[in-house]
Amino acid sequence: MSYTVLARKYRSRTLDDLVGQEPIATTLKNAIRTGRVHHGFLFTGTRGVGKTSSARLLAKSLNCLAHDEPTPVPCCECESCLRIAEGEDIDVIEIDAASNTGVDNIRDLRESAAYRPARARFKIYIIDEVHMLSTGAFNALLKTLEEPPDHVKFILATTEIHKVPATIVSRCQRFDFRSISINEIAAHLEVILKEEGVATDSAVTRRVARLANGSMRDGLSLLDQLLSFGGGELSTELLDDVLPVAHDEVVAAMMDGIADEDAAGALACVEQSLISGQTIDRYCEITVNHLRTLMLISICGADTELIDLPATVREQLVVQAARFDAATYVYMISLMEEVRRIVKSSNASRAIIDAAVVRLALARNFSNIEQLLATIDSEVPPEDRAAPRTSGRRSVTPTTSRPAAPPAERTQPKAPPARAKSTVSSAEEASVRRDPGVEQALDLFDGTLLSVHRAEPATTKTNTQDATDDPANNSSTQGDN
Ligand SMILES: [Zn+2]
Repeated sequence: MSYTVLARKYRSRTLDDLVGQEPIATTLKNAIRTGRVHHGFLFTGTRGVGKTSSARLLAKSLNCLAHDEPTPVPCCECESCLRIAEGEDIDVIEIDAASNTGVDNIRDLRESAAYRPARARFKIYIIDEVHMLSTGAFNALLKTLEEPPDHVKFILATTEIHKVPATIVSRCQRFDFRSISINEIAAHLEVILKEEGVATDSAVTRRVARLANGSMRDGLSLLDQLLSFGGGELSTELLDDVLPVAHDEVVAAMMDGIADEDAAGALACVEQSLISGQTIDRYCEITVNHLRTLMLISICGADTELIDLPATVREQLVVQAARFDAATYVYMISLMEEVRRIVKSSNASRAIIDAAVVRLALARNFSNIEQLLATIDSEVPPEDRAAPRTSGRRSVTPTTSRPAAPPAERTQPKAPPARAKSTVSSAEEASVRRDPGVEQALDLFDGTLLSVHRAEPATTKTNTQDATDDPANNSSTQGDN
């Protein structure tokens, strides 16, 4: 007994069935109905949103043998329709540009395009991942795209439209496929489960839909996976056993940790997401998207149409959005985006993302980290100064990892250990804290005075060395003491 995967078993038969891309389906159907079918189509969008399926549906509409002319409703039974659905039709040639990148492949294509179709109305070339073509291949393709024979149609598909030359784009009718919403994926999954006679509830389908990341194909694969474990019933318990965590839920939990200033809790969320297979890059991306949603709710109100969310999720996010103000979201987004940029080229990407999370969770302490550290610097006795300075503190920015752990410790509990080393009496320390100059400096830097040390005469030598290195710093040390 062979098992047909759901994506195949329930694939759309006509443009009418296309889930989540209704505007595109409507435009294509109208073009067919009015006889204004372009000779070149360019389908762009992320993976699994229906580009190849749509290309085949369009091909069926153009070539269905049961009709005398192109039709929005192909029969799905004629030889042409059946073959196209399998991707094996003699007149509908599917080319994977990823493995046929060369100019020769396109020359072959041009030669074969000259011959009329064997059986149907049009010879249709579906070129998948077209951005992978070489420059020479693009140039060869361009010539055919400019003036193709009447019997030829091109359907180009790409996940990376920015890599397709403008000359190609401008010769095609472009369709931007959007990510399919959680609601649409969940609804489709429910229909399929009903057909399959599998009992489930909406919590399950919603969770799968969220994990699908806007890709119907991913949603169906996950469902396949669940069904092979579940044996006729899908419960949320099974989901927990089989499926990875829903990363957007983890990111939401992380944001709660950050809002509670619970750095450990927030870090645990990162860990949970990464061990379940998420890449750091993608984790940053999800976080940025989540922050954007919170920012939009914060700025535009709970009912904003700028975000596409089901009511239940929206309610939760409205509560979360109130925990920070818009300016903080702007800061967080820029920080996470910077982190995302850096982790791509760093060997310490895990440390960087952890550091960023700690930084956000302890934002109050970190609000002016450079200035704060400068303040500390000027208070640390000179003999203690050399080590921290070379440990990279100068490069503390929201985006580097190395300094994060030390600053976290450094700023946490107003540093009792440091105070223990202090050689001044509490009365002296109190007077330093009251000193108008110190208060001004702290105000200016939005800083906190961690500890007060006395400059020992014995340190003059190091002090002098310091002076040659950095006279400004030296004078500030003198001033503070
Ligand atoms: Zn047909």
